[in-house]
Amino acid sequence: MINAFTVDVEDYFQVSAFEGHIARDAWDRQPSRVEANMHRVLDLLAEHGVKGTFFTLGWVAERYPAIVRRIVDGGHELASHGYDHTRVTQMDPAHFRRDIVQAKQLLEDAGGIQVNGYRAPTFSFRRDNRWVYDILLECGYRYSSSVAPVKHDLYGIPDAPRRPYRDESGMTEIPISTIRIGERNLPCGGGGFFRLYPYALTRWCISRVNAADGQPCIFYMHPWEIDAAQPRQQGVKLKTRIRHYMNLAKVEGRLRRLLTDFRWGRMDEVYPT
Ligand SMILES: [Zn+2]
Repeated sequence: MINAFTVDVEDYFQVSAFEGHIARDAWDRQPSRVEANMHRVLDLLAEHGVKGTFFTLGWVAERYPAIVRRIVDGGHELASHGYDHTRVTQMDPAHFRRDIVQAKQLLEDAGGIQVNGYRAPTFSFRRDNRWVYDILLECGYRYSSSVAPVKHDLYGIPDAPRRPYRDESGMTEIPISTIRIGERNLPCGGGGFFRLYPYALTRWCISRVNAADGQPCIFYMHPWEIDAAQPRQQGVKLKTRIRHYMNLAKVEGRLRRLLTDFRWGRMDEVYPT
């Protein structure tokens, strides 16, 4: 079973949790770490012979086209994470269209290939913004991986399907992996949960997705999650601080085990659309 290894390419200061602390027009004045962190992530994948999918911000492609070229040259899939990490819930249809068109163009210009995949910032699709799929299709995207079928205070559609499905618009949605425990879905597709759970629990969950559900795991991480030395943001809530900084130093070691214990590939290889 080949699982999908995905990376949301953004810098540490672009996460939604810091939105109220670092304005978008201050991003260019922050010490950038995305390039160095991406080299570490790409080195790690190369070491293990793994290809993955990189959902990259247009903002990053615009400033660091060399990262985009290394993604493409390494045989990975280049995909879109929107332009500047504005959540879909904060955009009207016209704004959303501008955002995803701009991101696709910047990525395709830097990478010299066609971009088919999209992941919404902070999994910000909701039941009431289904128009996103029509617009994604119209703008040339072929699949989305923007739904977390979990109950969470910041994101998620708890009762969304746990397997890939075709929306009534015709768009393919590939949700982040969960396992079913009683009446609830437990997130097990990475992100903060990869840092929160002991590695053995992550491994058990992924094995269960593979064996009990007969599904590939859709796993995701961010380049800033392997960067324990990143600048610490002052004045954020305790919950945000714990979520963002917890176990950063453990991630690289855990990734080495993850990349060894399972087989991984690109999203468009695991689920061709
Ligand atoms: Zn993101």
